[in-house]
Amino acid sequence: MPITNVTGANIPDKLTMAQTACTQSIQHLRNAIKSLKDNSINEEQRKWLNHYFLLGNDNTEIPAEIIQILKTTKRALKHENITVNIAFYNYVNKNNPNVINLARSQFNQAHQAIRYLIHEASHLYADTKDHSERGYTDNAGNYRQPGLTKEEALNNADSYACFISSFNGLRL
Ligand SMILES: [Zn+2]
Repeated sequence: MPITNVTGANIPDKLTMAQTACTQSIQHLRNAIKSLKDNSINEEQRKWLNHYFLLGNDNTEIPAEIIQILKTTKRALKHENITVNIAFYNYVNKNNPNVINLARSQFNQAHQAIRYLIHEASHLYADTKDHSERGYTDNAGNYRQPGLTKEEALNNADSYACFISSFNGLRL
């Protein structure tokens, strides 16, 4: 299993929960990558692509960079020996490779564990960024503040995490 250890708070079944979130994240990433590569996404999925990456309502192109970041994130979740540490908030530290810190609240609901595992893994392995309130979305998938540019969206961690969730019909 890619997640070999869960440290921090004492939650029953925390290792199983983290491993399940990881397995499902990989499946959701794989599903999206395949559909994007085949350009076989449906109307709803294209709407989410254009929404999160600010590509414009009528866009039909799929930027290669998006597929690349999704692939890099998926590969790491599949192959790295990751420790999840339950912390006060979600973060990673490049000096501490293969440790993903997730807030305890992310363990309350499976879809949130998936969203934030992908968000943090994309930082750690695919070098995505945060762009403060312009780049974080609310639970409806809208950016909390306006002003994110298209260039920023293409390396914005929450854009990738929310895109994968919405693409696969999960709540955020
Ligand atoms: Zn982040």
